[in-house]
Amino acid sequence: MIRIYNTLTRKKEDFVPLEEGKVRMYVCGPTVYNFIHIGNARPMIVFDTVRRYLEAKGYDVNFVSNFTDVDDKIIKKANEEGVSAEEISQRYIAECKKDMAGMNIKPATTHPLATQEIDGMIDMISTLIEKGHAYEKNGTVYFRTASFKDYGKLSHKNLDDLQSGFRDLKVSGEEDKESPLDFVLWKPKKEGEPYWESPWSEGRPGWHIECSVMSKKYLGEQIDIHAGGEDLIFPHHENEIAQSEACNGKEFSHYWMHNAFLNIDNRKMSKSLGNFLLVRDIEKKYDLQVLRFFMLSAHYRSPLNFSAELMEAAKNGLDRILTCAAWLQNQSANEGELTNQESEVVEEAKKYVGKFEAAMEDDFNTADAIAAIFELVKYVNTNKTDELSGKAAKALYEILKQLCDILGIIIEKKEEL
Ligand code: AMP
Ligand code: ZN
Repeated sequence: MIRIYNTLTRKKEDFVPLEEGKVRMYVCGPTVYNFIHIGNARPMIVFDTVRRYLEAKGYDVNFVSNFTDVDDKIIKKANEEGVSAEEISQRYIAECKKDMAGMNIKPATTHPLATQEIDGMIDMISTLIEKGHAYEKNGTVYFRTASFKDYGKLSHKNLDDLQSGFRDLKVSGEEDKESPLDFVLWKPKKEGEPYWESPWSEGRPGWHIECSVMSKKYLGEQIDIHAGGEDLIFPHHENEIAQSEACNGKEFSHYWMHNAFLNIDNRKMSKSLGNFLLVRDIEKKYDLQVLRFFMLSAHYRSPLNFSAELMEAAKNGLDRILTCAAWLQNQSANEGELTNQESEVVEEAKKYVGKFEAAMEDDFNTADAIAAIFELVKYVNTNKTDELSGKAAKALYEILKQLCDILGIIIEKKEEL
């Protein structure tokens, strides 16, 4: 039984999907105004691995991950370069997909774009206004947080505390709000910004409404897993819950999963500290498989520190697995049937599959799963002889490959051209 730590209940729970054999999963994707950094890569790698494990267990996973392609940062970058916002977002979506391919992240079943879903957003905002959950002031539409009694349930924040915390916080242009906690669903355009027609103003949607709408369109009103980095818990995911549940009258997502942050040299990654690394920077020195392996060497809910030494250690660890795999692959060409003793060795090796799976079932503990792979490699290394039959080598190789596939680590030797 797979167990998942659910941010909503703050407990590990048995995973039971809404529909037997199927999983509906939504992962908040990046805002595309630059190349992705290694922090953005963490949720991509982690939740791709969750998806791969679920698929390996026989689930049919409908995996949706958006690109936020309308946003202040995109518009700013477009103005700096003197090109359209669309050109910026299209460019960095293409670049992001290249990085994802390098990290062996499977393309989502659907990668919706916010700009292509504006009609759905206008529909949902209209419904929220009709139901009294949203209101318009001077062309801006706000969500009325006081109308949603469960507001705060994901971040475990109490509405009164939130109110007092926000009392002094005035965002310019948002003076019309009934409460400081109310958030924008639609805002009027400023000069030179991309905009769409709506019943309220020529403008664009707020960020939170995107995900509620895209999730509903591609996965339905209720989903199994919603995921992203822990910085999204509040306000983004809290607001998504408010919008979706107020609109649809149903629980939005059953399980909420959040990865912890990636730091660099024990400090928060930030542009001002100058310790910002893009996936592209890593690629200059390493195969991106190494970055993937590094990310999975920690449990996804533990903070992970990036340093040159730790990357080197990840490279060495991965090399140990690849060397063993290459030896088995070569040896598979040998003649011969399994001897009795070899059959026992293969049976024994299967125990590590059990260990690997037990780790993955425990809230996707990839750190322990990798430890099980290392044990398997060690076991193979202590049992390998030049006389090992091709059949035995192949059987051992398949066991190793099965486990590495789940982590998205490629062990096949590339065909030499
Ligand atoms: P953004 O483009 O900022 O919306 O981020 C896209 C995804 O990357 C979100 O799920 C964020 O939570 C995640 N993310 C951003 N920075 C980091 C970091 N340093 N460590 C882990 N995840 C991050
Ligand atoms: Zn989202």
